[in-house]
Amino acid sequence: MNVSLERSFAEQQDRADALAKMRDAFRVPTRADGTEQVYLCGHSLGLQPKTVGSIVQEELESWARRAVDGHFESQRPWLNYHERFAPSLARLVGAQPLEVVAMNTLTVNLHLMLATFYRPTRERSKILVEKHAFSSDRYAVASQVRLHGFDPQTAMLEIGPRAGEEAVRTEDVLALIEREGAQIATVMLPGVQYLNGQRFDLRAIAEQAHRAGCRVGFDLAHAIGNVPLALHDSGADFAVWCHYKYLNAGPGAIGGCFVHERHARDSDLVRLAGWWGHDKASRFQMPHDFQPLPGAEGWQISNLPILAAAPLLASLPLFDAAGLPALRAKSIRMTGYLESLLRAQLADSVTILTPADPEARGCQLSLRLKRTPSEAHKVFDALAAAGFTGDWREPDVIRVAPVPLYNTFVEVWEFAAALGRTLR
Ligand SMILES: *Cc1c(COP(=O)(O)O)cnc(C)c1O
Repeated sequence: MNVSLERSFAEQQDRADALAKMRDAFRVPTRADGTEQVYLCGHSLGLQPKTVGSIVQEELESWARRAVDGHFESQRPWLNYHERFAPSLARLVGAQPLEVVAMNTLTVNLHLMLATFYRPTRERSKILVEKHAFSSDRYAVASQVRLHGFDPQTAMLEIGPRAGEEAVRTEDVLALIEREGAQIATVMLPGVQYLNGQRFDLRAIAEQAHRAGCRVGFDLAHAIGNVPLALHDSGADFAVWCHYKYLNAGPGAIGGCFVHERHARDSDLVRLAGWWGHDKASRFQMPHDFQPLPGAEGWQISNLPILAAAPLLASLPLFDAAGLPALRAKSIRMTGYLESLLRAQLADSVTILTPADPEARGCQLSLRLKRTPSEAHKVFDALAAAGFTGDWREPDVIRVAPVPLYNTFVEVWEFAAALGRTLR
């Protein structure tokens, strides 16, 4: 990206940005003096859309005024509330509406998907995970391995970066699956890695996994709403995600799940079942035998937590209005701008851990300061005290994500300037 280091360049980018007005749809946290923070933490918890309050309030009113009748007679009847999300979610992850459902939370959904798609046998007991997987994913996988009577030490196969490198090479993932595939039951990798921001090639991995006879699924916590996804075409068996990061649905919001169409009507698939996954037509006749709904809905267990789901109704229309291609185009420019500023001004003090290829990353840049971890932490704390919000990941990584829905080029410029000042 051809950039100038002057602030006026950032101002010019913001003036020319057709998406700049989307920021008005969000509440931005303020500093003690009332000015808006430079919030670069949308990869961890997205900002609150301004319409969330009224949408949640409508459900509270509905409950107060209609009580049980709200299931059927509310402005948005609770009975099939989850169906409202499917079209927008399908667009975001590149799936058919039948293939997606909003339910539970991320790690719970991962367990439900592994219950179906990790069915180890003596010959094929392994599950391929990433060496630096998010703790919750690792715990979930290890406990599933134990649930089936295997030992995580031997059954969890790990792929990591080569020595001296930060990112996992796609060629290494594919080679490992080719080599060990006959023993691998399931491949479970991230869409975008949470720590270094690396984007994985889902299609190549899914195709290789299937050639080897494995099931394959992805954790899209840091990918949904961040990078374009084509889950259906990738052929992945399943995927899971949360809606409180780039999707801005608030802390602990309802999560999401994808099950490929080819499994939609396979009622023989083993699953952990509950009444909400049962056929809608007969659910309230309380039949003895479980008859799953076709598609991802058939993996629902409980009725939807409406208050944890309603905020998604405020957020999804913003993505539909902006369009992911436009958001992605802005994101590539904005993250590229941040990278250019850091490289031009702070190359001596900051290492960028995230891949330089825009296709191999999303919004986020992960930074390592060329200081001891405790010195680096002081720099991070000073930035936070000055109202520059990113996050710190042990042992020494600072993550910042310019989010195209609400961040500005001037904020990116100000962050780079503040980091430079703090380092000096
Ligand atoms: C954010 C995140 C989680 C969080 O899991 P919850 O079940 O929503 O608490 C899990 N895995 C990954 C990779 C994440 O990025």
